Amino acid sequence: MLTMKETAILYIVIPCYNEEEVLQETTKQLRQKLKSLIDKKIISSKSKVMYVDDGSKDNTWNIIKTIAREEKNFTGISLSKNKGQQNALLAGLMTARTYADVVISMDADLQDDINTIDEMLEKYKAGNDIVYAVRNKRTKDSFFKRTSAQFFYKFMNFLGAECIYNHADYRLTSKRVLDELSKFKETNLFLRGIFPSIGFKTAIVYYERKKRYAGKSKYSLKKMFNFAWEGITSFSIKPLRFICVLGFLILFTSLGIIIYSIIRKITGNTVDGWTFLSISIWFIGSLQMISIGIIGEYIGKIYSETKQRPRYIILENLEDKEN
Ligand code: UDP
Ligand code: MG
Repeated sequence: MLTMKETAILYIVIPCYNEEEVLQETTKQLRQKLKSLIDKKIISSKSKVMYVDDGSKDNTWNIIKTIAREEKNFTGISLSKNKGQQNALLAGLMTARTYADVVISMDADLQDDINTIDEMLEKYKAGNDIVYAVRNKRTKDSFFKRTSAQFFYKFMNFLGAECIYNHADYRLTSKRVLDELSKFKETNLFLRGIFPSIGFKTAIVYYERKKRYAGKSKYSLKKMFNFAWEGITSFSIKPLRFICVLGFLILFTSLGIIIYSIIRKITGNTVDGWTFLSISIWFIGSLQMISIGIIGEYIGKIYSETKQRPRYIILENLEDKEN
C-alpha cells in the first residue's frame, strides 16, 4: 500500500500435502529469510510462515505443530481432509489476511526461489498490491510438465480466462486484495485466474524455478487434469458456445450436402429415398446442435450469475480520506 507505516506484517502461506521430507529444510531456509528481512526492518517481527496442512497422510501436521510450538515466527492450520492445493491455499490466504498486511503464497518444496521475496516486497513498497512471480525458464521441469503447462496457459487465454503466463501460485498480495477476494463466493475458485480479474496495481518479478528439494510431485496426472478442467470450466463458458458454432458449421455443411444430393438425384445416380434421408440427417443434426448451443448460452448465463462475483472493485474513494 502506498501509505505504508514503517514495517508491514508479512505472512508466507504454504500449502503442504505429504511434505514431511521437505518441511525441515523449508523451515530452515525461511527462518533465515525472515530473520534477515526483520533485521533489515523490511518486515515486522510479527511476520510468520503459515503452513497449511492439506489433509496429509504422513507426518506433516505433527512436524508443523512442533515447529509452530518451538518458533514464534512459524504457525500452521490444518484442513479436515485433502482438498487440493487451490483450496488449501485459499484457506491459508483467508486465515492469514486477518493477521497480516501482506501475504506471499508459495510451494513447500522450495522450487520457488525464496530470494525473490526481497524483490517482491520492494515492488509492494513501491505501491503494487499484487506481485506475480513468473518463471523465466522451465529447464528444471520435465519435458511433459513443461509442454503440458505451456499448452494449458495458452489454452486458458484462448478461452478468455486471463492467466499470467508461466506464473503458478508464487505471488504477493496485499491484505486489501485478499479482502476483495473474500467477496468471491464461488465454490470452484481458480486462483490463478481470479487474481488478474481483481485488478489493482500489479507487478511481475522473474525467477528461476528450481528442482523439488525432496520427495515427489504431489500433483498426480489426475490432479493436474482436474486442475486444468476446473480452471477452464470455472472461468469460461466458451465450451458451451462452441456447441452453437459447431451447429452452424454443420448447417453449412448440410447445405453442401443438400446440393450434392439433389445433383445426384437429378443425374439419377441414387437409390430411392436416399436424397430425402441424407438431407434430413444433416439438416436435423445441425438444428439440434444449434438448439443445444442456445440452451447452453442460457445455462452459461445462469452459471455466471450464480457465481455472484463482485461487479466492480473500488480502488480508492477520496471521500474516505482524512484531510
Ligand atoms: N499440494 C497441496 N495439496 C494437494 C497437492 C499439492 O497442498 O493436493 C501442495 C504441495 O504440498 C506443494 C504445492 O501444493 O506445496 C505444489 O505441489 P507440487 O510441488 O507437488 O506440484 P508441482 O510443483 O509438481 O506442480
Ligand atoms: Mg513443486
